Amino acid sequence: MESFSDELLNEIKSRNDIVDVISQYVVLKRKGRNYFGLCPFHNEKSPSFSVSPDKQIFKCFGCNVGGDVFRFIMKIENVNFVESVQILAKRVGIEVKTNLTEKDEKIARLKEKVYALNKEAAEFYHRKLYEPTSKQAQEYIKKRKLDNNTLKSFLIGYSGNNNELYNYLKEKGFDEETMLASSLIGKNENGRMYDKFRNRLMIPIQDIRNRVIAFGGRVLDDSKPKYINSPENIVYSKGRNLFGLNVAKRNVNGILKRILIVEGYMDAISLYQRGITNVVASLGTALTDNQGRLLRRNAEQVILGYDADGAGQNAIMRGISILQSMGIDLRILQIYDAKDPDEFIIKYGPDRFKKCMDDAISVVEFKVKIYKQNLDLTNINDKIKFLNLIAKTLSEIDNEIERELYTDKIAKTYNISKEAIWAEVKKLTNKNTNKYNSSIVKPIELKSNNEEKVDEKTLRQEKMLIYLLANYPNESYKRISSVADVSLIKDKRNRQIISTIYEKYSENASSENLIDWFRDEDMANYISGILVEDYEINDVNKAINDLEKIYLREQKIAKRNELLKKLDNKEKLSQEELKEVENELNSVIIDLARMK
Ligand SMILES: [Zn+2]
Repeated sequence: MESFSDELLNEIKSRNDIVDVISQYVVLKRKGRNYFGLCPFHNEKSPSFSVSPDKQIFKCFGCNVGGDVFRFIMKIENVNFVESVQILAKRVGIEVKTNLTEKDEKIARLKEKVYALNKEAAEFYHRKLYEPTSKQAQEYIKKRKLDNNTLKSFLIGYSGNNNELYNYLKEKGFDEETMLASSLIGKNENGRMYDKFRNRLMIPIQDIRNRVIAFGGRVLDDSKPKYINSPENIVYSKGRNLFGLNVAKRNVNGILKRILIVEGYMDAISLYQRGITNVVASLGTALTDNQGRLLRRNAEQVILGYDADGAGQNAIMRGISILQSMGIDLRILQIYDAKDPDEFIIKYGPDRFKKCMDDAISVVEFKVKIYKQNLDLTNINDKIKFLNLIAKTLSEIDNEIERELYTDKIAKTYNISKEAIWAEVKKLTNKNTNKYNSSIVKPIELKSNNEEKVDEKTLRQEKMLIYLLANYPNESYKRISSVADVSLIKDKRNRQIISTIYEKYSENASSENLIDWFRDEDMANYISGILVEDYEINDVNKAINDLEKIYLREQKIAKRNELLKKLDNKEKLSQEELKEVENELNSVIIDLARMK
């Protein structure tokens, strides 16, 4: 296990304020002393994820994860402790020397080389687009009406007919391993290397940090397949990125107010050029959970702009099921007289397109619209069915005001009596309430750990002890450790924590990195829970005094029990020893009586 000095970890931590770091991933709002937001680690609709600038820790009360800034990076970037230290060090320009395992180091080096190669390739293709020999590509560009600004923004390029890229990369000094790892170059049975993308319009796919991670290649004629994309490889995984997010983010500082997601990258590029700069594409796959989280981290409102055809509708339904549970303000774009957003904006211009974005409908409205499409409302049976479906959808809305608003809107749009809808909704919601009331909510049982159950009061007292040790080491450590012996701590986990704290403090370790002493994730979550709790401490000294008294007493009680045990076996004691034990017991009992 890699170990960093306390000084280094402190330095990195003090320069990476936890609120700044987490704000890059989560929209945080200040409430009192702390910040709150939607947890990036579980799906939720109301914020239970809190960040404390005073304590420099985060904690989610929904899924219980918590920790310091290193722990956050570990979880969100899916990296180990060493890598999280590196990421944060790099963020503030601190150099960190590490000894990764040889294998990890090799992979890290190869990744860096592939990123470098991809960048070089993107620029090569881009330059090539402007060469006289690239007539066919230039004509295609003209046909799609892409202007020079757009070509530059997205680094659009052209791959030639021969092995130009391979020759170029070889000349640039890239080795065979890197070329093959990039998926841009292949190798045939005779060991000959060749360009995989030929005679295609090349669109680099960049991640949020502007690194080229893959390419999409589109044919210039009608041959098949229309698109070839890089396969997943050492630097590219499809479901974790969104095309255009880096460009969209470049236009704003921080969080986008709203973001439009479309199906293909050519759609995204076309919309961008026509003034819709907050647009991304989901890279030819159905929307994934990871992409959903990426959207949530970067925008307040998400508009699904998938095509209106049958396949598009399925994509919308899937998008809804993923994004709705994440607490995103989700809208669905409605366009008319065009098969897709690209066609619409070319036909009607950006102003009308923006109007469509403003008018994008909610999930409830979208569902009702789909019900109507599948039913014949002149038929009385269908009409009843329609009413039932509307009521069911409305009854699923938790917020009563919202429910009323939608009821109004739907009643007007479809010319149905509001009272009729309301009556149906009431039936359903009442049923739901009864069901909820009749089920008894059982408290979650704690794991027993084969130990005696520790009562609530003792648990809280021990947690407070940890809290004081963590936050006020100078005031508390000496005084508390001299009375609160580890053997007096009743709860197993608390005992383990306190024992580690004593040990570390005795070696003069700094409390700043306390959470990092515990590499076990459950343990870190547990400790963060302790650290964010409010123990209503107004006077630290008094709190320490009180605990001191409690443990002094505990110490005496333990001593008394020990002496009583000795007396149980008094036949083993000599006359002198017996006398001594009895005297000692007497004084302990007197002490205890005084303490009351
Ligand atoms: Zn959570």
